[in-house]
Amino acid sequence: MNSDKSIELFNKSKTCIPGGVNSPVRAFQAVKRTPVFIEKANGSKIYDVDGNEYIDYVCSWGPSILGHTNRSVVEAVKKACEKGLTFGAPTENEYVLVKLISEMIPSMEMTRLVSSGTEAVMSAIRAARGYTNRDAILKFSGCYHGHSDGLLVKAGSGALTQSVPNSKGVPNDYTKNTLIAEYNNEKSVEDLFKEYGDKIAAVIIEPVAANMGVVLPKKGFLQFLREITIKYNALLIFDEVITGFRLGTGGAQEYFGVTPDLTTLGKIIGGGMPVGAYGGKKQIMEVVSPVGHVYQAGTLSGNPIATAAGIATLNILKNTPDIYKRIELQTNKIVNAVKERFGDEVCVNNIGSLMSIFFTSSKVVDFSTAITSDTNKFAHYFGYLLEKGIYMPPSQFEAMFISCAHTDDDINKTSDVIKNYPNLN
Ligand SMILES: *Cc1c(COP(=O)(O)O)cnc(C)c1O
Repeated sequence: MNSDKSIELFNKSKTCIPGGVNSPVRAFQAVKRTPVFIEKANGSKIYDVDGNEYIDYVCSWGPSILGHTNRSVVEAVKKACEKGLTFGAPTENEYVLVKLISEMIPSMEMTRLVSSGTEAVMSAIRAARGYTNRDAILKFSGCYHGHSDGLLVKAGSGALTQSVPNSKGVPNDYTKNTLIAEYNNEKSVEDLFKEYGDKIAAVIIEPVAANMGVVLPKKGFLQFLREITIKYNALLIFDEVITGFRLGTGGAQEYFGVTPDLTTLGKIIGGGMPVGAYGGKKQIMEVVSPVGHVYQAGTLSGNPIATAAGIATLNILKNTPDIYKRIELQTNKIVNAVKERFGDEVCVNNIGSLMSIFFTSSKVVDFSTAITSDTNKFAHYFGYLLEKGIYMPPSQFEAMFISCAHTDDDINKTSDVIKNYPNLN
């Protein structure tokens, strides 16, 4: 595998972009390599600047569920471009996209479009605080909700009541209202509600955690959160930036049959363009300005190109729902190959078209079990696959994404490469 051009571009980029990248995981630090720079993509494949071809299992971290350069999406974008890139005034497509979202996710009676998942979550939390007149929020160890200050809180069993930011530059004051519970641990939630019940504006959770690797909610856990939030008059927010339109047309809330008060979306709803959205009960969303007194705005919010890409993507998903069966079956084939090769040496967590392979013999059910993984083993596995033309997420703690552009050939090739992974010693 030749990577001369990637290395040259990386070195140049490092002189003027922190770490050479515009989002940290892209730097391949966690897998002890230097990144490949991508030139183009098509269907299930991405191509780097040195001409190497890879089967892509990152799919831009989720958005490319239809595969890259889907014809209808690209055509919709081109058509929208001809009419103007941005107006800073309302357009029909914003209504069309939001209406489509509410048809597919009925709990989103009213929705505001923004430009990223980070912004969606930050705004949903502001709305929840404005609506309840409470300040605290409860999140879970290992769940990622974007990089806004109050949510960049280190998890850890010792930090049940004291939340310490896990990024420099975030004052302790900004995270003092962030309470941390353990994923899949009902008692950790109950304890916090007993102590701070009248201060908690909302519980926020990734209904399937996908940012500590994929971790599934245990049976009844989401329902438990629904009930305890009702009991204490707090809101329940599902961060479906990954699971929305990934687990099915109705997201995780449909999959598990648990309805949150507010939902945040991103990734897939932009079809590859920068978009986010937050929405929920009309009564709650009407606290948002200009109807209510919770301020939130954006120059490029509801951007015409992004909404065009989002509408085209959601329409395909809505009209061909058997996509979800197909991508799940493809994912299961890879799961089987991993199990055949590694057996009990690894823990494989999968649901729908999301999966992670953890290099640990523990069952991964939360953050503390996720971090028992051997990241050196993962790095080796990643490098082996990359050299064989298979592009996996460059971190042990990220999900792998399968798209409907992955062909049987892609899946078979990937499975064979995994089954032939050499013994390490
Ligand atoms: C990616 C992600 C975000 C942040 O979205 P950005 O568009 O990267 O800002 C928030 N929540 C979850 C669950 C995510 O996976």
